[in-house]
Amino acid sequence: MVSRVIASPSKYIQGPGELSRIKDHIGWMDGPFLFVMGGFAYDNLRQIIEESFKDSGVTLVYEKFGGECTRKEIDRLRERYRREHCTVTVGAGGGKALDTAKGVAYYEKSPVITIPTIASTDSPTSAISVVYTEGHVFDGNLLLPRNPDLVLVDTEVILQAPVRLLVSGMGDALSTYYEARANVASDHGNFAGGKYTNSSVALAKLCYEILIRDGLKARESVEKKAYSRELENIIEANTYLSGVGFESNGLACAHSVYNALTILPQCRHMYHGELVAFGAIAQLVLEKRPDAEITEALQFCTGVGLPVSFDGLCSEELTREELMKVAITACGPGNFMDSEPFTVTPEMVFEAMMTADTLGRRYKTRT
Ligand SMILES: [Zn+2]
Repeated sequence: MVSRVIASPSKYIQGPGELSRIKDHIGWMDGPFLFVMGGFAYDNLRQIIEESFKDSGVTLVYEKFGGECTRKEIDRLRERYRREHCTVTVGAGGGKALDTAKGVAYYEKSPVITIPTIASTDSPTSAISVVYTEGHVFDGNLLLPRNPDLVLVDTEVILQAPVRLLVSGMGDALSTYYEARANVASDHGNFAGGKYTNSSVALAKLCYEILIRDGLKARESVEKKAYSRELENIIEANTYLSGVGFESNGLACAHSVYNALTILPQCRHMYHGELVAFGAIAQLVLEKRPDAEITEALQFCTGVGLPVSFDGLCSEELTREELMKVAITACGPGNFMDSEPFTVTPEMVFEAMMTADTLGRRYKTRT
């Protein structure tokens, strides 16, 4: 028997000024609410939240997030949660702050609400918290039994975030459909305790179509700090479609290459989605996809400003030995190469990355 599972937050709300209506969205719960807030959220969003809850009599407890999602940080916030007799956890900030809030909610068995301040991560929707050690080394994934109860996205807040973060989110979202397609072909399991559904694959495909159609306009929107419907669409693609898409379909080559590239000190300055986008193109090469599809991906990436070759990804040139190490790591434990519908060897990944790099360089210098 095969379980078909789609994992999704209970409710997803997105729009300009949505945060100023937060009481309408969560006020039906009694509180007190513990707000775990990243630096930007702590400094800039508290007043909006206060205003919304004005005269409601609900207790709002604010805690500034310490900067890394560690077990110690989760414990510190749990202590505050208990001391203030909180009943709901709210995370506001980037992926790490939200992952921490989800961790607190998991251990305290409370509902959790996520308020992303950037659109470059899948954390707002997923039932996974990525935990690090005090030394910022990956410590493991906390697999949560359920997705957030509410994801609240204020487009005006996202509009204020740096453009590179929105673009990085698009790079992460680019791989969603490719990786879903690989999992469908291999009939592989997803992160939701089963296998893909027709709905989850359709969401991944929609994610891709929106990126190709609206990516460039959304980028311009953030550059000019001017709201647009295209920006709204891309925020939804980066946050909801990519989030539900990856969790309910699974990952494959693109994220394996990402994981492996993070071992290189030359790539440490890059954002998650920037490395994933290169992994996505390497995946298309690995799967011997038609030229037209690879060109569409290259056109998208160069258009929105995602690097497509090693000179844009690495601070120093890579040696063949280093690249081979990346290829071996990408095929190693903890990665997702077995989601591809054929056996993948490190040599094949090495070749795919080299070819992706060549195609990327050639595309950039085309006349
Ligand atoms: Zn990702």
